[in-house]
Amino acid sequence: MFHKYASPRVFFPRTINEVLEMTETESDAVFWAGGTSLSRFSEHKAVINLPKVVISLGLVEELVKASRSEHSLDIGAMMTLDRLASLGRSTLPAGLYEAITRIGNRPLRCRATIGGHLALQDRLGDLRPLLQLLETKIEIRYLRERRGRRKPVSTIRKFPIALLEENPGLSKGELITRISIPTENWNIGVYKKIVPAADTDRKLIFTALARIEKDVLTEWRMAFSDGRTGVLRDRELEVDMAGRPLPLNHRELESIDEAIDVMTAPWEKRTYERETAKSLARGFLNHAGG
Ligand SMILES: Cc1cc2nc3c(=O)[nH]c(=O)nc-3n(C[C@H](O)[C@H](O)[C@H](O)COP(=O)(O)OP(=O)(O)OC[C@H]3O[C@@H](n4cnc5c(N)ncnc54)[C@H](O)[C@@H]3O)c2cc1C
Repeated sequence: MFHKYASPRVFFPRTINEVLEMTETESDAVFWAGGTSLSRFSEHKAVINLPKVVISLGLVEELVKASRSEHSLDIGAMMTLDRLASLGRSTLPAGLYEAITRIGNRPLRCRATIGGHLALQDRLGDLRPLLQLLETKIEIRYLRERRGRRKPVSTIRKFPIALLEENPGLSKGELITRISIPTENWNIGVYKKIVPAADTDRKLIFTALARIEKDVLTEWRMAFSDGRTGVLRDRELEVDMAGRPLPLNHRELESIDEAIDVMTAPWEKRTYERETAKSLARGFLNHAGG
């Protein structure tokens, strides 16, 4: 049978260095991790529209390794979301199990990888707000020209995940290799995803962490996201409320409401999301106050 589709060229490197060498010779190549996002827009159910040149990351063993130290969980970019969830609610940092298991369905999570999730260009990815609160760091590898060298050299860069949102974000040829999530102890970790029933394109993600000692809110962090336009967070508010006795009083709760109004101003007319954001924050702080 004749298909109008041209066959793509697919490369199967086995090491990170081989991946990087291929990005040098194949400048149009696209990394393929679980393929869930790349195959999403295929016109035809029986044929997947692949990019013209694909570098499959599936055989790179270095990218699936995971390790846990006293302070952090280090995971390779090719770890699937399902395998990450299988580490268990008690091993994963606060709230992360809930965040992962609210993404798509299990068959999707068995293919989708953490690296592919963080590299998404058309959406923010539901894990980003919580990973930012947890102060996750990301490691990328790429080739860089060096003076006096005939060939570009492999370079490593590590940076806080929040910088992925800033320009230029992830550039072509930059490979996410590892993700390092601190495993500090938080008394409470909450993750909620709310999809207004009538509109599946809209969502509100609320995530927050709190550390409480002797009825005092010693530290807390809170973020909102609509999954598209960025992670909304107010560090000044977090610092301002830290050290206050729980439960917070009426004035303190009102000033948090006001700060959320300012934070969610980019959402303009989405009144439902803005009001829900305030009640989620109050619910969280009331819960923290016992
Ligand atoms: C049916 C469905 C439901 C979904 N539901 C949700 C949801 O509820 N919430 C949500 O947040 N997301 C959702 N998604 C999106 C999902 O999170 C992504 O499709 C998935 O995480 C991408 O991972 P992947 O391994 O399949 O990436 P791929 O599709 O292989 O790649 C995605 C992009 O990342 C690049 N890439 C992949 N790996 C790397 C790497 N290591 N370094 C640099 N670039 C890389 C690729 O070149 C490509 O541009 C859904 C997707 C589908 C298809």
